[in-house]
Amino acid sequence: MDLIEQFVAIVGFHNVLSGEGDMAPHLADWRGRYLGAARCVVRPASTEEVAAVVRVCAQAGVAMVPQGGNTSLCGASIPDEGGAAVLISLSRLNRIRGVDPANNTITVEAGCLLQSLQEAALAAGRLFPLSLAAEGSCQIGGNLSTNAGGVQVMRYGNTRELTLGLEVVLASGEVWNGLRALRKDNTGYDLKQLFIGAEGTLGIITAAVMKLFPLPQARATAWLAIESPLASVQLLGELQGAFGATLTACELVSDVALGLVLNHIPGAQRPLANSPWYLLVELSGSGEDGTLNTALEGFLEQALASGTISDAVLAQSSEQARRLWALREDISEAQKIEGLSIKHDVSVPISAIGEFLERADAALEKAFPGFRTVTFGHVGDGNLHYNQSKPEAIENAAFIAVQPQVDLIVHDIVHQLGGSISAEHGIGQLKRDEMLRYKSPLEVEMMRSVKQALDPKGLMNPGKIL
Ligand code: FAD
Repeated sequence: MDLIEQFVAIVGFHNVLSGEGDMAPHLADWRGRYLGAARCVVRPASTEEVAAVVRVCAQAGVAMVPQGGNTSLCGASIPDEGGAAVLISLSRLNRIRGVDPANNTITVEAGCLLQSLQEAALAAGRLFPLSLAAEGSCQIGGNLSTNAGGVQVMRYGNTRELTLGLEVVLASGEVWNGLRALRKDNTGYDLKQLFIGAEGTLGIITAAVMKLFPLPQARATAWLAIESPLASVQLLGELQGAFGATLTACELVSDVALGLVLNHIPGAQRPLANSPWYLLVELSGSGEDGTLNTALEGFLEQALASGTISDAVLAQSSEQARRLWALREDISEAQKIEGLSIKHDVSVPISAIGEFLERADAALEKAFPGFRTVTFGHVGDGNLHYNQSKPEAIENAAFIAVQPQVDLIVHDIVHQLGGSISAEHGIGQLKRDEMLRYKSPLEVEMMRSVKQALDPKGLMNPGKIL
């Protein structure tokens, strides 16, 4: 039997796609920057089917590209243009296997949409706190494989911190059952950590045990006008001092970023008069509804009086809070509609946010006058999205051609400040060469040893990360 016949025997005729039109949505990335090719797209619906598909590929020496919701912003889920790889889509492997409210855990299959997981937790009276703008499309397997961050990391951690156990199909086709639901387990190397953030280069995650949390009873959301990123860092410290772990989100938005949302997203409305920068703040926790609003209102009155903020709006209903959040969550979509952009997803120590923006803005303005920088991000964990939008006067090709120089300027400053060139999106194809520039040879060598040990034939998502 040829490869396709073998896949059909495992997953059925309708779940092996080889027509150009059928495969197209799987072969282009969300930003439209990468266009790949594949032998076929295979859609297994169980761990056993994934394992059988991987065994066929391993025996034939064929490369495999796992794909979740295909919302990667660094080309991680798109195969190369050669057309020799098999794309394995996890979308049909999407059951909630079980919820254990007493243990505060949920066991889910990799293809489960993040939003479906959040809803299943809610139905059990619990919170699954991972939250990002792509949550209606991305899958928990993709979140695990990118160690996704999002807007509540400062309180609950990245996907890594939310994970207790994994089930993984190894490059050989063997199944590793590491679905433990334990908060303490010191029995040797913590192997699940290798697969989290590995971008499908070490194996295919088929299921996971994720942590759940008590559902917040009260919430307060405010949009603040501030003068500078430095003010956001000062405010973050004051908010943490006043509210501790109740402070669950602290998002920085530049007026340029807000302007894109107002221009491109229907229904978006400016919440306050113009200011160079804004901060979206959310408290959530126990207590009666309204108590957090009162507490935040008191804090904001003081901040206004001391001049730390120049204006503020406090959401009076969950609908108003949703609209404030949409202004933040829709920035990526609005920037995509605006046109091409060069994206940087960087992190620096929180104390260095002001210096990073000052230095990077000045260096870019000198080298590329006229580029518009769109800055937004998660102040609470030092992660900034620092993106340059293409000026109208420059052709697409010319803009893309200068990306390496722009990256070098931004990433050198990040590196000098002890930061990371990929805070939450991963490496994929986009930052593969950049990563080699900044990691020590010893660190890269250790990564290569891990890859060699788990995928000796180099068949798992080749060309990504390393
Ligand atoms: P895909 O894009 O399909 O794949 C991502 C990587 O994981 C690839 O390397 C793929 O091979 C691998 N992979 C997928 N599933 C598996 C599996 N089961 N086993 C092994 N490997 C697998 N990211 C953030 O961290 N924070 C944000 O706030 C954020 N906001 C975003 C907003 C928008 C509008 C968009 C479009 C993206 C955003 N992202 C964000 C990026 C993206 O959503 C995340 O990286 C997400 O975790 C990817 O999930 P996915 O299911 O789409 O994975």
